[in-house]
Amino acid sequence: MPKVELHAHLNGSISEETLIKLIAKKPTDQQEMLQKLTTHIGDGHNRTLKECFEMFKMVHQIVNDHESIYEATCDVIDDFANDGVVYLELRSTPREIPEAGVTQASYVETILQAIQDKSSTLQQIETFDPKRKPIIVRYIAAIDRRNSVEHAMQTVDIAIRMKKTGLVVGVDLSGDGSVNDARELYTVLEKALAHGLKLTLHLSEVDGLVAETSRLLDLPPQRIGHGTFIHPNFGGTEELLLKTRKLNIPLELCPTSNVKGQVTPSYDKHHFYSWYQLEHPVVICTDDKGVFATDLSTEYQIMQKTFNLTDKMIQSLAYLSIDYIFESDSVKDRLRRYFEGWQQLNQ
Ligand code: 5GP
Repeated sequence: MPKVELHAHLNGSISEETLIKLIAKKPTDQQEMLQKLTTHIGDGHNRTLKECFEMFKMVHQIVNDHESIYEATCDVIDDFANDGVVYLELRSTPREIPEAGVTQASYVETILQAIQDKSSTLQQIETFDPKRKPIIVRYIAAIDRRNSVEHAMQTVDIAIRMKKTGLVVGVDLSGDGSVNDARELYTVLEKALAHGLKLTLHLSEVDGLVAETSRLLDLPPQRIGHGTFIHPNFGGTEELLLKTRKLNIPLELCPTSNVKGQVTPSYDKHHFYSWYQLEHPVVICTDDKGVFATDLSTEYQIMQKTFNLTDKMIQSLAYLSIDYIFESDSVKDRLRRYFEGWQQLNQ
């Protein structure tokens, strides 16, 4: 089934195979140490969310210069295309790596170069053909809430500057939700909106962020990452639920990430179903397909099996996700025609 992936962090999405390949290109004296890093959580294993954040730092030790950033981005795009993802919004936090001459700006330029080299043309998203795997890719500049407000402003300024490429479509807020008060980033996020960038914010991913979430919903963001603790059934409040519902803000849901990161006790207790029953827009996503050892097809299959959804319901979820991409109506129309072409072949 053709799918759109709207919540994927670049460095969390790198496969084990790619990391092994990147390690082999490092100086010999570093390889042994890098091979020992834990970068994946296999099935049946869990970590706390805090431990997951430590794992991203390990991946960062491997993806630490322009070459590895470029190669990792290309491989991640290929992986998603091979899984039937036809439209991908890839997010990543611009990182300075002074010892490798990487600046926030050159970090983003490298990703955009890989996107340009790998992305299909819009004309290739026309009629569905099972022999081809086209993919359109866009970039979302991520702000890590653990960094300073100045750092976040630099990220937004770079995103604004590079918006003219047509590849930069939005700004994300992510990083450890238990660190800092994201309300301090309100004006930075407001600036992104004022310059025509879309916002997707990790909101209430962890418990106890009601005031912060309520304030950031005032921006408002066009999408919410996780939103695990917004619904009153999951420790949220009626006010947060009403605000999210009134603005009809889609939620990007990443089941395996939430279960393996121990934010959600098990798949059947995932907040997906409470929102789905309300007919509130939800988009199934992977979050970090590398670290959490999954892919988008698997995430759909897990939700289908866990909540007894029919094929039609799953297909409808995937089709409706097109409504929430950070792209123009003409791109959405193209993706819908492509998806309908697949449906005709698979009736
Ligand atoms: P990168 O931005 O380096 O491409 O991808 C890794 C980064 O994405 C992590 O360091 C973290 O800031 C962010 N990230 C990845 N997965 C999650 C998640 O599940 N929750 C949050 N809040 N941030 C995440």
